[in-house]
Amino acid sequence: MSSSKSGRIIRRIGAFHAKNLTKDAYKTLPTHELLQALGFVKQSQSGLVHWLPLGLKSLNKISEVIKKHMDQDLGASEVSLSTLSARKLWEKTGRWGNTELFKLKDAKKADYCLNPTCEEEITALVGGYVSSYKDLPLIAYQITRKYRDERRPRGGLLRGREFLMKDAYSFDASKADAVATFDRVNKCYDGIFQDLGVPFVSAWADSGDIGGDMSKEYHYEHESGEDTVLKCDNCGSISNVEKCSSVPVEEGLHSGNADVKYALNACGDTLICLYYPEGRTLNWNLVKEALQEDVDVSMRDSDNLTILDKFKSTLSEDSELFASVVRVMDVRLNSRSNFPDFPLKQYMKSNFAQLGGVSLVDAIAGEICGSCQEGNLSEARTIEVGHSFYLGQKYSKVMKAKYMNKDNKDDFLEMGCYGIGVSRLVAAIGQVTRDKQGLRWPRAASPFEVTVCVPAPDERGTEVAEQLCNSSIDVWIDEDARTGLGRKVLQSHATGIPLCVAVGSKQWPFVDVEVRGERRANSWEQRYAQASRDEWTLTDQTDAGIEKHRVHKDRVAEVVTVLLADM
Ligand SMILES: [Zn+2]
Repeated sequence: MSSSKSGRIIRRIGAFHAKNLTKDAYKTLPTHELLQALGFVKQSQSGLVHWLPLGLKSLNKISEVIKKHMDQDLGASEVSLSTLSARKLWEKTGRWGNTELFKLKDAKKADYCLNPTCEEEITALVGGYVSSYKDLPLIAYQITRKYRDERRPRGGLLRGREFLMKDAYSFDASKADAVATFDRVNKCYDGIFQDLGVPFVSAWADSGDIGGDMSKEYHYEHESGEDTVLKCDNCGSISNVEKCSSVPVEEGLHSGNADVKYALNACGDTLICLYYPEGRTLNWNLVKEALQEDVDVSMRDSDNLTILDKFKSTLSEDSELFASVVRVMDVRLNSRSNFPDFPLKQYMKSNFAQLGGVSLVDAIAGEICGSCQEGNLSEARTIEVGHSFYLGQKYSKVMKAKYMNKDNKDDFLEMGCYGIGVSRLVAAIGQVTRDKQGLRWPRAASPFEVTVCVPAPDERGTEVAEQLCNSSIDVWIDEDARTGLGRKVLQSHATGIPLCVAVGSKQWPFVDVEVRGERRANSWEQRYAQASRDEWTLTDQTDAGIEKHRVHKDRVAEVVTVLLADM
């Protein structure tokens, strides 16, 4: 990636920076504690943090990568909406009842919430400005703090009650245009996550509470992740478990007990009996697909008795005989499976419809991919860092956000919404890239590109730092006389800064450039081969296995630029 526009020298992280952590702490502290111990953030309350200089620098770097792509790839307009939102807006969309909303009252006892997301506000806002199809498409985004009254805040920044989020909203004139925008934003997201320098996967996903019928998630693979995706080794499809269909290696092999879940069809006059292997999890997306959407999923969490009572209440006593029933069999079951008793006492089997050969349960590793019917599925634990949704007219209809179409008729706006958890990314990148020596930022997310370490403030350190700065490199100069040079270098590595330049008096006018960052390419080797060994030598690795270059002070900016280009 290109270097930042202008380099800066930061001299003082000051009291916020960690001192005298043991090597063992770098290795063993959980990442959210390491981020605190090294002075990136400070937790103030459960789920709330203060951002300290190092953490804020990382946060801003990540924000810049996102902004660059939103502006250049999409021509999106940056806005910043009010954090407070009035109750009446949220009542229109039926979301005021959300138990995770942070709610508050003003002096006149009017209700507000702290925005967790801004579909309501942005739809009201844009609806007031867009009048014609000629104003479309429109994409607006912001990077602002959001709030969620998380009952069980966990993992510090990963699941906080206050978080920095990039949220974007698209407005189009037709479904086809909206889907094209959805694809365009996903391409933009690919660019953002590529630039951030950490391998990612994107997965088709269930859209959950936000609605719509097309959504994609962006994840980092890591064993500590709370999410699971399933990957096919043949077609390469990656899905969230809610969206993954699978088939067993052989059909009808489940010989144990079958479980049943009752449901009603959309108009409530047909009982649907969903049979699936005991111990597996019913997947409502697959159920909807099997029944071609003719199922009332609002009762999915009601127990079987409640659903049965509701169904029976539609029948008179003698009409039980003619009750309309659909039995749906998961493909893993067979006729010898042990089925639970049928709930209606008298019934006529001729009124039963039976549907078989469909998969009704969450996919598990080892089964066959439902998309290509060939590959094997494997599971990976992941941390979700981004999400995109096609929303359709879900919000524009209830908010009455209209525009004039080409036929001079009013129509509702077609929408999409797109989130990236920016503060979550700091935690997630920190987590997936760290090693036993501490943090290890990719260049794009690192608070600084280079640390210049000097034993105490002196001209040599300033000369090197200024050279680097003049070459548009972001420099942190650590010259605190209370800490020895070796300790400073160790701290720079543990803080995860990609390069560290140690300026000691013994080897001057040479300096040592140590490489902590992970390389994504090896273009430096060619430049190294061409350079004079009198000015640039690769020396032995340090005891900690860190690559070390001895470089003449007049070449340091050039060498650092070459080394950074691969990171
Ligand atoms: Zn496949």
